[in-house]
Amino acid sequence: MTVVVTNQSGIARGMYTAQHVDALHDFMQRSLSQIGAHIDAFYYCPHHPEGAVAEFSVTCDCRKPKPGLIVRACKDLNINPAQSILFGDNKRDIEAAQAAGLRAGIFFAGGNLFDAVKAGLETF
Ligand SMILES: [Zn+2]
Repeated sequence: MTVVVTNQSGIARGMYTAQHVDALHDFMQRSLSQIGAHIDAFYYCPHHPEGAVAEFSVTCDCRKPKPGLIVRACKDLNINPAQSILFGDNKRDIEAAQAAGLRAGIFFAGGNLFDAVKAGLETF
């Protein structure tokens, strides 16, 4: 199972809306479908404590490095965190993975994501 967990504080900051994020995720899904791949679910945090949009300008439990998004995804999709790994391009991602009790959080510094995932899966 493949799940995207992403901070989207641009929503709280008024830079874009949840509809824009949904459109991006739809685009990703359509692009992946062309090669026979898919994302099982997308979870995003629209919050930031110092945002500009009142509704989303809160301290939440889902903005990484907090584990809320990962915990919710595991609960919703019946995923065993101890059998899951997260690939992230930010230290906060790795901290969130650890806080959620995932088997591993792997830092992705850029380059070929497919190669990074293959290497990460070989650690199992
Ligand atoms: Zn949040």
